[in-house]
Amino acid sequence: MKELQLLIDGEFVNGEAGWFDNVNPVNGEVVAKVAHASAADVDRAVQAGKKTMLGEWGNFSIQERGALLSKVANRITERFDDFLEAEIADTGKPKSLAANIDIPRGAANFQIFADQARSFGSESFMQSTPDGKGAVNYVQRVPLGVVGVICPWNLPLLLMTWKVAPALAAGNTVVVKPSEETPSTATLLAEVMAEILPPGVFNLVHGFGPGSAGEAITTHPDISAITFTGESSTGEAIMKIAAEGMKAVSFELGGKNPAIIFEDADFDAAVAGTLRSVFTNCGQVCLCSERVYVERPIFDKFVNALKVGAQSFVLGDPYDSETSFGPLISKEHREKVLSYFDLAVEEGATVICGGGIPTFNNELDNGFFVEPTIWTGLPENARVIKEEIFGPVCHIQVFDSESEVIEMANDSEYGLAASVWTQNISRAHRVSQRIESGIVWVNDWYLRDLRTPFGGVKRSGLGREGGIYSLNFYSELKNICIKL
Ligand code: NAD
Repeated sequence: MKELQLLIDGEFVNGEAGWFDNVNPVNGEVVAKVAHASAADVDRAVQAGKKTMLGEWGNFSIQERGALLSKVANRITERFDDFLEAEIADTGKPKSLAANIDIPRGAANFQIFADQARSFGSESFMQSTPDGKGAVNYVQRVPLGVVGVICPWNLPLLLMTWKVAPALAAGNTVVVKPSEETPSTATLLAEVMAEILPPGVFNLVHGFGPGSAGEAITTHPDISAITFTGESSTGEAIMKIAAEGMKAVSFELGGKNPAIIFEDADFDAAVAGTLRSVFTNCGQVCLCSERVYVERPIFDKFVNALKVGAQSFVLGDPYDSETSFGPLISKEHREKVLSYFDLAVEEGATVICGGGIPTFNNELDNGFFVEPTIWTGLPENARVIKEEIFGPVCHIQVFDSESEVIEMANDSEYGLAASVWTQNISRAHRVSQRIESGIVWVNDWYLRDLRTPFGGVKRSGLGREGGIYSLNFYSELKNICIKL
């Protein structure tokens, strides 16, 4: 059985807290044993990060750091197949998805922040003084120190590297905890980092949240900042702990994202885009739409088209080229999603399609699959319309006017990403500007430019990452004022 270890101070080691199982969600089989880090392991990782900040790593120039991060990007690309296999073993996602999104973005995250580090400048401000001699202020960007990186399971390599790359580009060191559900690509990345970076710059600890490695990171006094992606309630719990010692936090959290389809939209594009926005990665993307709003004249036609699309997905083995739809991540997560399927029916939903567990009559029946599911007919205050489900499911609501749909879309405690489908350019601007969310896509979904600010409002997050916004979070801005 494969054993996935911790990386602390450049050495692969076992965890003091023993081992836990890594399960393949496609068939429920244990695929690896994972080293479980204790609080003492986390402390050693933090001390290693501190030591190299004051030594070898701290002495590198921005250009040198950028060059090393480019090497990391290249090495991920060279080992593409190893990363692909590891990501599929952890998540069960279709090979085509992991090969087109997760692994290339993992490499791209390092490349973009390597490039950005090389061109990173700082501002200066000329100032007049009463004696007429003047002064110049310049801004020095200082690394924060050891950054704790805590990640979810849905896009494991992509979301981890999205934080690790800018943190390192800005000169910090990191202690990374991947989700307990998806430890494999993080361990491969640790192998790459151990080849390329000085010991202690990238430390990897495996484990869980409360009472485990996650809590040990958030409570450690020498961790300067925490960057976290995961559930909103976990973010709230971490924020309370981070208040002690005033750790900087950056949070990318949950969503209950609206997709709004106006009568004047390109119908086929809107259907295809909404199929992607609801069902990509089995609905397990924070940006996925779980609330779909369709203008009345095209409502019935749209519901039917989305149903036909949802029923055309092929659920199955991730390595089968026909497969377009994988399992949920775990037995526990499937129980949660199925409980929402039951709740929707109790709340009075019309089930347009899905709502159950598919049957394969082979080992996949031990996996954690659910059917792509669509509901209609619920009032906007139904719990399944309010709460994040994080599965392959949406409710489709009818609307009659722009102001009505904006009000419904904004009536949520979340505000991460919205998509708006219309060919009316004025309406596109009007609606986008009034939607309460961090991101609005018009006539597309998940079209990412990695330089743009990424994050959510309300319970969907705190702060922005991406491009210069990431580098701003991962550095302190110090003003140095020199009297001339
Ligand atoms: P989660 O909050 O359960 O866990 C995320 C990570 O936090 C895991 O590594 C976990 O071990 C750790 N953790 C849990 N409790 C902790 C605690 N008290 N202290 C420290 N660490 C703790 O989230 P998940 O189930 O892994 O991921 C799914 C969630 O992530 C969804 O809500 C989804 O919307 C959200 N998400 C958001 C974004 C975004 O960019 N906004 C991206 C992906 C996923």
